[in-house]
Amino acid sequence: MHLLCDPHTHTLFSRHAYSTLEENVRAAAARGLELLGTTEHYSKMLWPEGDPRNFQYYMNFGVWPREVDGVYLAHGAEADIVDLEGHLFGHDILVDHHFSGRAFEKPRTLKDIVFKDCDYVIASVHDKTFTKGSTQAQMTQAYLGALDDPKVFILGHIGRTGLDIDVEEILLRARELGKCIEINEHSLMGDYGKSPTRCRAIAEKCAELGVQIVTSSDAHISYDVGRFDTVAGLLEEVHFPEELIVTRSREAFLGVLSHMGDTPRS
Ligand SMILES: [Zn+2]
Ligand SMILES: [Zn+2]
Repeated sequence: MHLLCDPHTHTLFSRHAYSTLEENVRAAAARGLELLGTTEHYSKMLWPEGDPRNFQYYMNFGVWPREVDGVYLAHGAEADIVDLEGHLFGHDILVDHHFSGRAFEKPRTLKDIVFKDCDYVIASVHDKTFTKGSTQAQMTQAYLGALDDPKVFILGHIGRTGLDIDVEEILLRARELGKCIEINEHSLMGDYGKSPTRCRAIAEKCAELGVQIVTSSDAHISYDVGRFDTVAGLLEEVHFPEELIVTRSREAFLGVLSHMGDTPRS
């Protein structure tokens, strides 16, 4: 099984991660990856205030080379889903000036400013407080709403969160929009209770319904970049169809990304 892209990794910018971009790139090259996606947390976990100076990281991606040592460098964000409608962090934070201080002609949302130069966004739930007391239909809607954001390409670790969701409904919407479900190494390895069982069931459902997946490390340190041992084992066990694994090559990943949302597929 070829898993040659790691589209979900973090650097020091994410505050509870430890490596630099260059360290992650070196690790990716050493493991023979063709694509590395850097997706810092975009969430109140990092900077609860909406001051654009805290988010200028997302506004200078132009300085990145696109390829280093054979590794394509994709840049994105891992955005928190913040309510039952599936809104993403910063959707309601209005910003009227650039981080340099220059005033905008009209205010823009922090989310739009941050997403503008991202190649793609991973939507994840980290803080589950907003789901308290909600029904399965409402929790499902949170993921469906997030999928509707044009920049969202991947739903992050839906098996780890442990929410009571209608998995099939979410998977079918992802398929319709040409978007991907993530199966992530971190969720299978970490101390996440029943997460491995849920991730396995989700992988089986994706295979059954023909839903595309991405595999990722969710690395928070360079040593974990490109490590997919458990994910690879799981996919082999369930005989997961290779053509649905978007991370099998750089070409596959960028191809699917470029067509996301084109024409809804049924
Ligand atoms: Zn993290
Ligand atoms: Zn992450």
